[in-house]
Amino acid sequence: MRVEDNLKQIKSAIQEACIKANRKTEEITLIAVTKYVTAERAQEALEAGIVHLGENRDEGLLAKWDVLKDKPTWHFIGTLQTRKVKNIIDKVDYIHSLDRHSLAKEINKRADRKINCFVQVNVSGEESKQGINPEEVADFISCLADYKNINIIGLMTMAPLSADEELLRSCFRKLKNLQSKVKDLGFDFAPCTELSMGMSNDFSLAIEEGATMVRIGTALVGQKSQED
Ligand SMILES: *Cc1c(COP(=O)(O)O)cnc(C)c1O
Repeated sequence: MRVEDNLKQIKSAIQEACIKANRKTEEITLIAVTKYVTAERAQEALEAGIVHLGENRDEGLLAKWDVLKDKPTWHFIGTLQTRKVKNIIDKVDYIHSLDRHSLAKEINKRADRKINCFVQVNVSGEESKQGINPEEVADFISCLADYKNINIIGLMTMAPLSADEELLRSCFRKLKNLQSKVKDLGFDFAPCTELSMGMSNDFSLAIEEGATMVRIGTALVGQKSQED
């Protein structure tokens, strides 16, 4: 499938979810996750009108950066090892996976401008999932005040791989509640207006529950074997 055709379908699904939830489509930023595909396929996404690209490993980001440079707005969405921050920091606009103090410290040290960061939250409590426990999020963010280059723009989560709609909704709802709480703290370094949640399988539900950024890979650009 061409990215253009997939994009049409996804846009209409986004629109439908927005109508259900009485939201505006302009509130939703679509991030094309290109981790499975080539730089050429990512280029095709840009030509189809995509602006935001997401990668989850530094190698993947750097390989695509070589080709696409700063044409897209880059999002780092995966687990980030502290020692790898320096490789990607001058290339990304958003980091979705801030989950520990040592990482915040390194981002702050290596960045020469404000980086928009999402605090990743392990809402589902699954052991396999990265992220801070929901009860610890407010305290974690409170401790970031001295990091001039870190702007906590929102919270991010990955829902469980499940077809149970209520389970998914409750996960997204919990993140939304947490986001409101952090926003209400009123920290100028943590406006926390955004919610990064929703992937190929669950983005419609995520939008209905308040997502402002959805991260879509498979359904939009496909996986390697599905490029043509
Ligand atoms: C891979 C990935 C996605 C996209 O997943 P799809 O199911 O292919 O849409 C979104 N977010 C993160 C953090 C990912 O690693």
